[in-house]
Amino acid sequence: MAKIELKNLAHSYKPNPTQPSDYALKPMNMTWEQGGAYALLGPSGCGKTTLLNIVSGLVKPSQGQIFFDGKDVTALPTEQLNIAQVFQFPVIYDTMTVYQNLAFPLKNRHVPAAAIDARVKEVAKMLDLERDLTRKARGLTADMKQKISLGRGLVRADVGAILFDEPLTVIDPHMKWQLRAQLKRVHEQSNVTMVYVTHDQTEALTIADKVIVMYDGEVVQIGTPQELFERPAHTFVGYFIGSPGMNVIAAEVAGDVARIGPHQIALGRPVTAPAGAKKIELGIRPEFITLNGTADGIPVKVKRVEDTGRFQIARVELEGMPLAVIMPEDARIDGDVARLSVDQKHLHVYADGHLVEG
Ligand code: ADP
Ligand code: MG
Repeated sequence: MAKIELKNLAHSYKPNPTQPSDYALKPMNMTWEQGGAYALLGPSGCGKTTLLNIVSGLVKPSQGQIFFDGKDVTALPTEQLNIAQVFQFPVIYDTMTVYQNLAFPLKNRHVPAAAIDARVKEVAKMLDLERDLTRKARGLTADMKQKISLGRGLVRADVGAILFDEPLTVIDPHMKWQLRAQLKRVHEQSNVTMVYVTHDQTEALTIADKVIVMYDGEVVQIGTPQELFERPAHTFVGYFIGSPGMNVIAAEVAGDVARIGPHQIALGRPVTAPAGAKKIELGIRPEFITLNGTADGIPVKVKRVEDTGRFQIARVELEGMPLAVIMPEDARIDGDVARLSVDQKHLHVYADGHLVEG
């Protein structure tokens, strides 16, 4: 059980970094509470693995400190950290049996044989590996090997934190759901601090209480799945989370009104964009737009309507800018012009990508 704090942490793989783009991780501060379940979500290359490897001691940061329960562990080697890590691809011993692989982290720590046996069987049961314990790891499928890797991460009951780096990448899709639920259950029963890296929003939202969204080496928002959905702190969060993601359209704001070309949208509250902002945008999720709900809505061009089977997505154009609108399955639009209205409560203003509080 550990509380993990990152203070002014940054990392560059370059020997002499000079500009922000030289950094895989830009300076960040973060606290992971003991027993919390966190997802680290972001596109490929945004720095998720770098951050995880720094926390587990595999990579030493160019700047800043890491604290476990208030103790500075920045300089400690990975073996001295009470932490387990599961990687994207299997890390197991091919010549050992499944049992020996699972037992290894415990044997290494001189756990008594009877306790090892009980724990290995418990973990094997969790992962549905009970019938395979005597098989050699060599020759097993990638799926099975990765389950063993997961088991090796889970087998130590005494770790303060467990870090997962996209652990289900090589797992068959139908088994993914099962394993996700299993990992969540293990976390709930153990009170261990869990950090789970993924680039898959569904995975992040189902496994974590708090989601940390990263973009280009920076943490752009930390929140509950609901907070990320309802109040994206950055336009990137808006379109990365949700499907289709949040619509982002160029606008001007003055007082409590936004202008898009000749059209006006009431914001319902005064919003002041920060002085010197280069780019003002409105963010509105496809779920919170209505077509033909009111006669005085803004006219938009309807380009096409896609049917997902559960709802429809209308692709429309407002002053040349594309917007997605989610419509009920039974809605029909006649003609190629529709009147658009928005739910004010869910209309956000962004200045240079960042949410303007208003
Ligand atoms: P993610 O896990 O989110 O895909 P990474 O942490 O692997 O991102 O990578 C972040 C950035 O750092 C990328 O630009 C990547 O190319 C770079 N990078 C990662 N590992 C190394 C390394 N060992 N040496 C140099 N650059 C690296
Ligand atoms: Mg990675």
